[in-house]
Amino acid sequence: MSPDDRVYAYSAVLMGSPILLKLLEHNQPLAADVFRLIKQQENLFTVNRPASEVMAVNQAAGDHPVVVSQPVFDLIARAREISLLTGSCFNFTIGPLVKCWKIGFQGNSIPPAAEIARLLTLTNPRQVILDRQARSVFLQTKGMEIDLGAIAKGYIADRVRDFLRQQQVTDALINLGGNVQTIGGMPDWGIGLKKPFAGPDELIGVISVCGKSVVTSGIYERYFELAGQRYHHILDPQSGFPLDNELLSVTIISPQSIDGDIYTTLLYGMGVDKGLAYIAETPDIEAIFVTRQRQVICSSQRQFTFTLLDNRYQLQ
Ligand code: AMP
Ligand code: MG
Repeated sequence: MSPDDRVYAYSAVLMGSPILLKLLEHNQPLAADVFRLIKQQENLFTVNRPASEVMAVNQAAGDHPVVVSQPVFDLIARAREISLLTGSCFNFTIGPLVKCWKIGFQGNSIPPAAEIARLLTLTNPRQVILDRQARSVFLQTKGMEIDLGAIAKGYIADRVRDFLRQQQVTDALINLGGNVQTIGGMPDWGIGLKKPFAGPDELIGVISVCGKSVVTSGIYERYFELAGQRYHHILDPQSGFPLDNELLSVTIISPQSIDGDIYTTLLYGMGVDKGLAYIAETPDIEAIFVTRQRQVICSSQRQFTFTLLDNRYQLQ
């Protein structure tokens, strides 16, 4: 943004995350509409409260199909498709394990191996039966649980963007706890890349974008420590344990925030080399990897620029 532009910021806590809306005009009613929209969307997808469309599907597991609204059906269909990609570490039926570990929700111990092994048998995405005509979703085995936590925020960020565009807003930023979507930016919106395991305002650098989404998934977001070991919230669908590799975080820059949300999780599982090779073949998706060795690795910077602020990190 140019230094002359005045930015008005509105905040709320929704979906268990701090939500930030930035506008170039003072417009409290518009901010209230945006927060209401986010709340409505959360009510469709959440699995952290007893009643939502996704919870209705989970509660009927092994028993009967549940008819859902078109947006919920479409998001489940997309999540299923990504989960079935060859070698994908994204698995939207990981719900039983997420619930068992409770990472970020008072979880502080490793579940027994036998329990992890049992729950892994409930995480087969092929056992989610979709009927497009009936708009129904059926989980074939009792105990199965869909978890859209790795995709819903991106989807919702895009809905906020669409709503703001309908309202003729030409410059805005919405941050749903690490999922950022932007409209315009004269010349650019600056989005901080957080320093892992540091204070909330400590940054490795700044990502500048115009009308793009910036999504970061990091192992420092939600975790617990036990015997000197950190256990974070992105689980390996093969082992049922937190994914373990050289990465601290993955950031995706893309036009659609839903893609950013999907690809952060997918690329986290791939690691740097495979991840870079993968996105080189994928139009519109760019990435920034931060490794445990404090390397910051950017893909081709067509959709963003990155400014390093902390010289203890090395830009590759
Ligand atoms: P994100 O914040 O996008 O990195 O997504 C993390 C959230 O997605 C977790 O809090 C879980 O709810 C869920 N999750 C954890 N592991 C996986 C996985 N392997 N595939 C899909 N969703 C996952
Ligand atoms: Mg994600």
